[in-house]
Amino acid sequence: MGCQILKRLTELTFDNRFARLGDAFSTAVLPEPIEQPRLVITSPSAMTLLDLDPAEAQTPEFTQLFAGHKLWSTAESRAMVYSGHQFGQYNPRLGDGRGLLLGEVLNDAGDYWDLHLKGAGQTPYSRGADGRAVLRSSIREFLASEYLHALGIPASRALCVTASSTPVWRERKENAAMLLRLAPSHVRFGHFEYFFYTKQHDQLKTLLDHVLSSHFPEALQQSEPTAAFFRTVVERNAELIAKWQAYGFCHGVMNSDNMSILGITFDFGPYAFLDDFDAQHICNHSDDTGRYSFSNQVPIAHWNLAALAQALTPFVAVEQLRETLDLFLPLYQTHYLDLMRRRLGLTSAADGDQQLVERLLQLMQGSAVDYSLFFRRLGEQPAEQAVAGLRDEFIDLAGFDQWANDYCARSALDGLLPDKRQLRMHAVNPLYVLRNYLAQQAIEAAESGDYSPVRELHAVLSQPFADQPGMQAYAQRPPQWGKHLEISCSS
Ligand code: AMP
Ligand code: MG
Repeated sequence: MGCQILKRLTELTFDNRFARLGDAFSTAVLPEPIEQPRLVITSPSAMTLLDLDPAEAQTPEFTQLFAGHKLWSTAESRAMVYSGHQFGQYNPRLGDGRGLLLGEVLNDAGDYWDLHLKGAGQTPYSRGADGRAVLRSSIREFLASEYLHALGIPASRALCVTASSTPVWRERKENAAMLLRLAPSHVRFGHFEYFFYTKQHDQLKTLLDHVLSSHFPEALQQSEPTAAFFRTVVERNAELIAKWQAYGFCHGVMNSDNMSILGITFDFGPYAFLDDFDAQHICNHSDDTGRYSFSNQVPIAHWNLAALAQALTPFVAVEQLRETLDLFLPLYQTHYLDLMRRRLGLTSAADGDQQLVERLLQLMQGSAVDYSLFFRRLGEQPAEQAVAGLRDEFIDLAGFDQWANDYCARSALDGLLPDKRQLRMHAVNPLYVLRNYLAQQAIEAAESGDYSPVRELHAVLSQPFADQPGMQAYAQRPPQWGKHLEISCSS
């Protein structure tokens, strides 16, 4: 990699490809400023994606730009139109009701980054709501974006959060905030659904051409670019969902308008990382039926891909779309097993590995075993000692002993030396986890004007695999109250 030349805020280059698609795709709207803006937190690593000098965050312009008070003359802020299936029901008109695509920054490496300002005020798609985001949800999205990235799970990124004194009403009075989100594209499955169900097939084709040329150039080299594009979306989602399941990430609102065509984690509100392992965990308090429970994420991703496939039927034969959809589950299973083998410190593939993983999860279910710490502790010592130390965590001791025997025998097959085993396992099993209660404590401090806890939490979570001296408090099991926080859609 060459030397990165860092820029000032004023030196960013915009090339607004989506805005140029025209008014059928988005509407020009200017951000509505929030009052008395204060910078809560920034991500230095996200700043480097734009070639921005991290010192720019200290300038007044930075806060003004990301609180809607200023805008680059070359940015063209727009609200995008889309629709989508929410909790299984088609909603014909959604769109950016409280976020704006400020523009697309082209960095020196030739990468494009959408600048999306969430909480920027009302738009034609606000449907009577206030167009705002509250501080707690902005902080939650910031922390998760940057943590998922640090874990190696593809996600939209977060540049900063700005707080304000502008009042907004949710279950109580809160203050408005803005989050600056970065992603190579903000096109969702729901964009395709909108043009398909409104029978605007010319626009659907324009959208497809834009997505292919901007984000899937390799698909354009294939004999059937649209079919190749869909196949790539299926492949990327299979890999993404495998990572969610392997790392215990629960998205919370897997509506098709919250699914990115890039296969990145996107638009997550009431998300959670599992504390105790629970396959049926429902992290969204508003999800009464558990449609988006932890284990349902796999069939729901498949369901959402089918919703996208439906919107591609004007261009690809149904039979072909079906065949591609059928790839999802086997691809998912391959990726998932591969990740779980690594988490267990297994370096080869053997018959019976899948059962070994399934049996472990069955034993964890109902035993209140901390999902993340189990794997970290399993890697701390040689297999025999490690399982002996973890035994007390399980209710079915006979079942665990059997599993532990089989696991130790299986580990011995790979013959890893203890030091090497620990190194390999610690590199994939985080010590620090973005737990709801940690986020909650940081949010409460931030709501009272103290931003140092959220900044420290972010700093610790940006290196989740490294043992950081003095940071043991972040690596504990959650307190009982912390396991049962109710997070709703309201944000
Ligand atoms: P979300 O649950 O954030 O994915 O949002 C679902 C839809 O509701 C999207 O069209 C959002 O733009 C819109 N929306 C959510 N909250 C607000 C709000 N406070 N004001 C306006 N629109 C909103
Ligand atoms: Mg959304």
